[in-house]
Amino acid sequence: MSVAVIGAGIAGIASAHTLQADGLEVSLFEKRDFSDGDVPDQPRFIAASDDAVLDLASGLGVEDAVRPVPLERMGAFQDGEITTFDQMEIFLKPRQDLSLFEKIMRVVFAPVVGLDRASVREFHSALADHQFDPLDRDLYNERLHEQSIQEWMAQFDDGLQELLIKPTLRAMTYDDDFEHTSADRSVAALKKVVRMVQDGASVLPNGQRPFYEALGEELPAENLRTGTEVTAITAETDSVLVEFRDDGTTTEASFDAAVLATPIDRSAELLEADFDFEYNQTRGVVLDGTLTEDLALLIGGDEAYNLRSVVAVGETHNAFVRDMNTDIDVEAVYDGEPTRRAAETVTTTPHIEPGKSIPEIQYDDRVFLAGDFRYYPSFDTAARTGRAAAAKVREQLRGR
Ligand SMILES: Cc1cc2nc3c(=O)[nH]c(=O)nc-3n(C[C@H](O)[C@H](O)[C@H](O)COP(=O)(O)OP(=O)(O)OC[C@H]3O[C@@H](n4cnc5c(N)ncnc54)[C@H](O)[C@@H]3O)c2cc1C
Repeated sequence: MSVAVIGAGIAGIASAHTLQADGLEVSLFEKRDFSDGDVPDQPRFIAASDDAVLDLASGLGVEDAVRPVPLERMGAFQDGEITTFDQMEIFLKPRQDLSLFEKIMRVVFAPVVGLDRASVREFHSALADHQFDPLDRDLYNERLHEQSIQEWMAQFDDGLQELLIKPTLRAMTYDDDFEHTSADRSVAALKKVVRMVQDGASVLPNGQRPFYEALGEELPAENLRTGTEVTAITAETDSVLVEFRDDGTTTEASFDAAVLATPIDRSAELLEADFDFEYNQTRGVVLDGTLTEDLALLIGGDEAYNLRSVVAVGETHNAFVRDMNTDIDVEAVYDGEPTRRAAETVTTTPHIEPGKSIPEIQYDDRVFLAGDFRYYPSFDTAARTGRAAAAKVREQLRGR
């Protein structure tokens, strides 16, 4: 049985690895030319409980690609001030996980930073109730998906909203006015940050690169088709036709099934489907400069500085910018002016508004969707959907 996997992001890699391990013949199509070693390698951060990424790393034998990051090297910024995660620990952990000393510190410091302790407790209880699962939603989450994040936030006092919730969401959901994302999706993003504090955080300093390289060892060379853009997908009765462009030539090949692990707007085009989404763009700039603190990850949404987040691994720093059309003013984060080094990149993230529908992983009998489109974009969501799409392909093909 043969399966085409389209897109060599972390979702496509997870899908291809799972299908290959199951004995199916996998061909991986990627439009960018990775053959010269130029695989995207922007650092990504995960919580130590992001199992799908960790399972994939161990399945591919690249456990070293994931490294722990101490809490004091990560933080949030707002109004030009940086607060590191270790300083927030006493508020970001549920009360039962705090030592007696930390409980006392919470009591003492809550009023100093403007937090109401009862509200902090309610916040943790609301997060515990939210079962984020990109593959399945229970009724509670279904209700949250109908609600806007503004409505969800309104249950907490202003101090908690301004200090903890809003800065985190501005960085994580790309929804500056909190109008375009469902509560379900935003709470999943909040939970990720809280889990990074509670369970520990890790960085993948080279993003998906080691994963892609390890997968390259597993697949026959002729099945790893980089520099090959898929231009159409057509479902036939017994097969899926994949049309692709390679060296200026358009060719078609037939497969038993296809997994589209392309960005969801591209998947919609390929399938001529009308998904109910809007898209948001963020500019990434690679900078070189000295940071004011020894930071690895800094999240926040400080309009005055036009910065969404800074990722610092090694000597270059990625800065993600809020407003595409204005320059960044980085004095809160950098000592002096950093030098702009590499070309800018623009990334697209889907907005999933309250009540809008989200496509299922199984699109039809032979076509499956994987990627970060389900609820909130992360490596773990993408890897989980990649793995789930592979399981559904297997189930479907076995039934024949
Ligand atoms: C600025 C920024 C920072 C982020 N930071 C984090 C973080 O710290 N931690 C975290 O967990 N997540 C983070 N994320 C989210 C995470 O990076 C994404 O959710 C994840 O990488 C998506 O993976 P994917 O496989 O679904 O898609 P992609 O990585 O986008 O892969 C899709 C692939 O499909 C290829 N493709 C597209 N069209 C075609 C075609 N027609 N034919 C063939 N190939 C095609 C593309 O070239 C691409 O390689 C961040 C995202 C952004 C934008």
